Order: sequence, then structure tokens, then C-alpha cells
Amino acid sequence: EDDPPISTNEHKDKLYDGLLAAGLDDQSCMSRYQSSLYRKSSSYKPSSHLLSRLRKYEALHKRCGPYTDSYNRTMEKLKAKQEIGPTDCNYLVWISFSGLGNRILTLTSAFLYALLTNRVLLVDRGRDMDDLFCEPFPKTSWLLPLDFPVNQFDKFDQKSPESYGNLLKNNLISSSTGSPSPFLYLHLVHDYDDNDKLFFCEQDQAVLQKSPWLMMKSDNYFVPSLFLIPSFSEELANLFPSKETVFHHLGRYLFHPSNAVWGLITRYHEAYLANADEKIGLQIRVFDTRPGPFKYVLDQILSCALKEKLLPEVDKQQPVVTLPGSRKLKAVLTVSLNSGYFEMIRDMYWEYPTATGEVIRVSQPSHEGYQQSANQIHNRKAWAEMYLLSLTDVLVTSSWSTFGYVAQGLGGMKPWILYKPENETAPDPPCRRVMSMEPCFHAPPYYDCKNKIGTDTGSIVPYVVHCEDISWGIKLV
Ligand code: GDP
Repeated sequence: EDDPPISTNEHKDKLYDGLLAAGLDDQSCMSRYQSSLYRKSSSYKPSSHLLSRLRKYEALHKRCGPYTDSYNRTMEKLKAKQEIGPTDCNYLVWISFSGLGNRILTLTSAFLYALLTNRVLLVDRGRDMDDLFCEPFPKTSWLLPLDFPVNQFDKFDQKSPESYGNLLKNNLISSSTGSPSPFLYLHLVHDYDDNDKLFFCEQDQAVLQKSPWLMMKSDNYFVPSLFLIPSFSEELANLFPSKETVFHHLGRYLFHPSNAVWGLITRYHEAYLANADEKIGLQIRVFDTRPGPFKYVLDQILSCALKEKLLPEVDKQQPVVTLPGSRKLKAVLTVSLNSGYFEMIRDMYWEYPTATGEVIRVSQPSHEGYQQSANQIHNRKAWAEMYLLSLTDVLVTSSWSTFGYVAQGLGGMKPWILYKPENETAPDPPCRRVMSMEPCFHAPPYYDCKNKIGTDTGSIVPYVVHCEDISWGIKLV
């Protein structure tokens, strides 16, 4: 296909140092070619090994994707519930599940797992995956066809007899017998049990490898535990010499806002962020079930932002402060389900002058009130807001929130993370800088596969450690 008529250098930049394949239609997905105009260039370069594996993956996906000869052949057997046997195309179906931030992280985890195991990743579109994202792979589709024979994905849960954990528990699967069913279900949701968690053991990976169709449901960024599987760790080290860049690169590779979402992003950016000297993102996710806003949350945000000098103090003594020199404009992008925090911060900088003379513009795109994961425009806005946060220069995020992890990873930023408040008081210190821009795996296995005993998987290797916000979670650093 013809590349757009631009110089090689400019082209390389547009494609994020070769992370994105050339030759996709830019009109159907404007964000692919325009997003680099809104970002500072990343200081993290993808390895040449990652680039070559992505190109190889794209070729595999094109050869095995929906309605290709290989796909059709395994499909007939899947429909007839026959044993499929070894094929040249093996698949991983990612099931749409949970909030949007969670979905972005699990889809990234699933893609990396597919890459490591030479599987083709197919995406259950759920209600709106096809509305929110562009196709990432050239000349094929990652969407699971609507006529796919297994589709009651809502029914898959901890108790499903087809789950790998339950097959193990009932002695229906082993390395010698292989799988009794033409597909296996992988239950990697936070309520998974010890049998399901054996997914993270090398011996079990050898069993799973024999199944041409795997279907996975998860609400966890399980990448850190993949680094602890010996058969994957060498390849992962080659793919990601800098371990904290996994989501940064794969997220930028996979997730391109659809044109509808790109419109939301660019219009907001032009109106509220583009001409600022500095852009500060505040992601305020409150897990208190009462409506709010809460004073303890506002106190915590302000104490973090002022202490770390992300925002200036106000001068309550003087009505007017004029300082010589040019006046810096700081744009503060607040993102929250509630509008209260935004209003209070905006009012503070209207009612009093800043001690530094800086001009503070505070804005918030939406205040949706509560999570509405089934609502199309709601999810478009959520995606646009994660993306807008990723375009800021400095970021403050909330503990426990995958929404914030997505923003930091796409942006290539190490945010200040607000500690989770206890007993309705702002913690002291209110926040800390994160160790790495990687997301946290909230519900990791605590198991030593080799010795078959419990173990702390956050203290086995120096690059997988416990998270800043969840003490039992693990992350790559
Ligand atoms: P997490 O619960 O913070 O880990 O993030 P998720 O994205 O997985 O789920 C939270 C969902 O609540 C989002 O997908 C949105 O639907 C909604 N939500 C939470 N915070 C915000 C916000 O600041 N803005 C918008 N538009 N939606 C939000």
C-alpha cells in the first residue's frame, strides 16, 4: 500500500519510531496518524526485537484472522465439537468484561500472551469495543466474528465446567491426555481460585499450548506474572529491555481512538489545553459509595499538588498580585465522575491570586455521576478523558484505579499517586511519585510453581515488586 507522501523522518515520528505498521487507511482512523502531533516524543524507544515481533504477529493475524481458510477450517470443527488437533493457527479470544480502564489493561495482557504463545488475538466486541477503538492490525480484523459459535460469554465464570481450573480440579485434563473440549476457558477474574491460578505455571502453559482455542476473561493486568514464567522470561527480556515500558509501547500500539472519540479528544484539547505553558492532569477516582464531593478528598489533592509544587499557593492577604515578567498559563485538567472538586479548585484560583503570578485555568470535560459501562457515549467520554490525561505534562492519579494507570502508561509518565484515604481523612503524606509507569496487577497469584508452595511473587526478582497503592499487588519496575 502507498504510504502517505511525507518525508521518512516525519513518517517515522508519526508511527512512533516504527511501532505502528505503515499502510493503514488514515481516514478511517485519524488518531493513528495525528496522535503524535499531540504528544511529546517518547523518551522510551521500542526495541528492534519488539518491532520485528509485531510485524511477524501482523502477518500471522492476516493469515489466520476471521474468515481466512485456516480460520474456517478450525471453525467447522469447533462447531461440530470435534477434536481439532494441532493446527497452524491457534487463537485466544478476549472476552469484554468490566470497566473501560480494566478492559484496556486486560486486552494488553491478552495481546502479550498471544504474542508469546503465537496465538491470534480475537476481540469480543461486547457493547462497544468496535465503537471506541480502531483496528490495530493491517488488512485484517481483530474483532471476533458475530457468527462465532461460542458466544454466551456472560455465562463464563468461576464455576464454568470448561474452565482450565475446573478441568484440573476434576482430573479431566493433563499433559498426557490433553483437553476434553475443543476450547478451554481461562478464568482470570479477581475471584479466581488456586486451580485457575495455575495458569501462571510453566507446566500448565505446556498443557494449554495444545488447545487451539482459548477464551479468556479477566479484570487484571497480569503481565507482571508472565515475567515470572521461565519459558517466557527470556523472550520478554528481549522484547522489553526496559521492563517498565510494556504497557507504554503495547498500549500505544493497540489503542487508537475511533474517529468519534478522536473528535472528543481534539476539540477539548484545542479549546482548553493547547495553548497552555504547562498542562496538569488530576484524576480523581473516589471509592467512597456516598455521593460526595468530600472535603477530605479535596484536602488531599490540594495538599499533594501544593506540597509537590505542581500547583501554586494562593495569596489570601492581597486582592491583586502583579509580578513582573510574563505570566505563565497552567491548564489544570480535572477528570472525575463528580464536578465538586473541579469547582472548588477553579473557585480557589478565581477568588485569590496565585503567589507566583501564574494564571491557572481549571477545566473538566464531564461529570457523569456514576459508572455506566453499558452506555455508549459514557464510554466514549471515559476513553477520551483517559487519553486527554495522557497528553498532559504532569499527572496526579488516584490509588486502585486502572483509569489512571492507562493515562500514565499511554503518556509515558510517572504520576504522583494519591494514597487511598482511610477513615475519611487525607493521608499524610498525601501522595508519592510512582516507581514506574507500569500498571499494578491487583490480584496476583502467591504460588511457587516449582516447589508447589505459597510464596510472595513480589519478592522473587528485582523487577517485579509490590505496588505503591496496593500492598499485595505487583508491578514491573
Ligand atoms: P477503575 O474502576 O478506576 O479501575 O477504572 P475502569 O475504567 O475500569 O472503571 C471505571 C469506569 O467508571 C470507567 O470506565 C468509566 O465508565 C467510569 N469513570 C470512572 N471515573 C471516570 C471519570 O473520571 N470520567 C469518566 N468519564 N468516567 C469515569
